Amino acid sequence: MRIVVEAAFPRKCRACNRYWLPGDTPVEGTYRQWEGDAPDAGMATLFQRVASPFICPECLTDFEPMASPLCRRCGVMFGSRIGEDHLCGDCLQHPGHFRRARSAGAYDGALMALIHQLKYRACLALDYPLARLLQQAFVRDWQMDEIDLVLPVPLHARRLRQRGFNQAQMLVRAWKKMDKGLMAGARFARSRDIMLRSKPTVPQTGLGRKERRRNIRGAFKVVDHHRVEGKRILLVDDVFTTGATADEAARELKKCGADCVDVLTVARTMPRSW
Ligand SMILES: [Zn+2]
Ligand SMILES: [Zn+2]
Repeated sequence: MRIVVEAAFPRKCRACNRYWLPGDTPVEGTYRQWEGDAPDAGMATLFQRVASPFICPECLTDFEPMASPLCRRCGVMFGSRIGEDHLCGDCLQHPGHFRRARSAGAYDGALMALIHQLKYRACLALDYPLARLLQQAFVRDWQMDEIDLVLPVPLHARRLRQRGFNQAQMLVRAWKKMDKGLMAGARFARSRDIMLRSKPTVPQTGLGRKERRRNIRGAFKVVDHHRVEGKRILLVDDVFTTGATADEAARELKKCGADCVDVLTVARTMPRSW
């Protein structure tokens, strides 16, 4: 009966706001069927599958997966689409504190629309689709036994109260539920058990690179050193912009004894590097 109802009524596309008839696309909440996807399923194919309940067929194609050649450290895609991965000019000049950062796709088009829906419209059903993209990017860019601790980037308590949830924490929780032991013994942590965002920062949106670094300096504080010492940590967030937030969190984690810190986000802004 539910399928008849789903098929008979148009849905509003979360990207372009137009109404469309879903036909035989999967319905919300059927994420479990994705578990059968091959781990090496192409990112664009996977995006179409997980986003199809929320996005009209036209907008579904407005997705750009991150692909080589990109910066070996920060993951920025090079404008030239031929050649090997190598370090970008920024990373050569400022090596920073995290080891490498990777993302599922560009912060643009349909993926940006979905992240906005989760974060600013509290469309919480998007946690599984977006976490599935995170998981896929992890499988693509890391060895399974390379990480000891998966840690969401914390929000400041005030921001958490305003929004009601930490989107990074939701993504990690959804990933943990669908992981089924793939992560070779890595632990999925709650951010508040490990690290706090102790300094209220103004939103980074609209700030330049230098201002972002100044704004975020000293913002994080590790609360449980024992769970950080000697660990290879994967920081998880929704969007990687300049990397200032991830770098500052990595600085604090390494100061408290972390072995290394990597960064995984659903999306990444695309200042093309040449
Ligand atoms: Zn659309
Ligand atoms: Zn770089």
